[in-house]
Amino acid sequence: TQAPIKTEALVIGAGPVGLFQVFQLGLQGVHCHVVDALPHVGGQCAELYAGKPIYDIPGIPFCTGQDLVERLQQQMAPFKPTLHLGQQVTHIERQADQRLAITTDGGQHFLTSTLFIAAGVGAFVPRRMVLDGLSAFEGTQVFAEHPAPERWAGHHLVVAGDGDTALQTCLDAMTGPQAAASVTLLHRRDQFSAAPELTEQMRQACAQGRMRFVAGQPTGLKVEQGRLQALELLNPQGEAQWLSLDVLQTCLGLSPKLGPVAQWGLAMERKQLVVNTENFGTSEHGIFAVGDINTYPGKKKLILCGFHEATLAAFGALALLRPTEKTLLQYTTTSTLLHQRLGLV
Ligand code: FAD
Repeated sequence: TQAPIKTEALVIGAGPVGLFQVFQLGLQGVHCHVVDALPHVGGQCAELYAGKPIYDIPGIPFCTGQDLVERLQQQMAPFKPTLHLGQQVTHIERQADQRLAITTDGGQHFLTSTLFIAAGVGAFVPRRMVLDGLSAFEGTQVFAEHPAPERWAGHHLVVAGDGDTALQTCLDAMTGPQAAASVTLLHRRDQFSAAPELTEQMRQACAQGRMRFVAGQPTGLKVEQGRLQALELLNPQGEAQWLSLDVLQTCLGLSPKLGPVAQWGLAMERKQLVVNTENFGTSEHGIFAVGDINTYPGKKKLILCGFHEATLAAFGALALLRPTEKTLLQYTTTSTLLHQRLGLV
């Protein structure tokens, strides 16, 4: 096991509110580490509506989800947070010295004095194909995480799914030095949720014999000598058929898993963490909850409300981290100290 990273502050979740939390902690002179289950920052803005417009961010009459994420990254950049992406926080434990021991499924350990849970609707993790015995091949022949060509170079690849990622993965896997030996798209019916251009490209590739599409619902496995050989399918005509493969990449979308957050022993109400509105502290000393994950009288799940919560949580944390210092309100316009922290002077 790796030695724990010691830090004053750890933020769980790199959604818009987690990113702004980094900024507010930075203004207070607190460096932080950030963990997110996704391989990129931005939470719902990046994952669910990157290209769609937002109209209710104060001072920004219009921007897309991705624009907002980029602006937040730019804003927090002076504070150089350390990002740990593609890792889910699984355990939180109070140490005898009151610090919190945090563990991720990537095997990373942290010891932190304050914790900010900005976990939104939960960790975004890939939806898995539900089929008896399939999980035994996860990581060797079956993959649900973001597609990577080294998994199938020279092998017979089956991609399950009907969205942009599934179709794009098929198209990419047909070419280049890491091309698959063959590419088959599997979906239960001949209808796709992917963008029309991608669907058209996929159909053309099938017509040219460069890949094929198979309609069917997986119902079983054929395993020989410890290797997954084929999937048993029920086709739309109601007949059983076999689909042989070396590698199965599932692209079935992401689903938010509240999972671990609910097991940390914090006070909850209808799947949200209960906080006070003075500093957005939870029922546990030193643990704050901001953004969509929290609840309090009048709570509204809006980004701008999350920004306010993150601001007061940073002040709340400072009172714990520097109990002897007075927490003065300073303006970014005029404060030399804040200008120093922002790297302007
Ligand atoms: P999220 O954006 O949900 O981010 C949470 C992050 O935490 C995720 O990346 C997740 O992977 C990570 N995470 C969770 N648990 C763990 C864990 N255990 N380990 C590691 N990582 C973890 N709001 C507005 O104000 N204006 C709008 O116009 C607007 N439009 C919207 C349109 C759509 C289609 C949707 C779905 C939402 C919209 N919202 C809008 C709501 C807004 O997106 C949310 O309020 C906002 O994303 C909440 O931010 P957050 O940082 O709290 O959480």
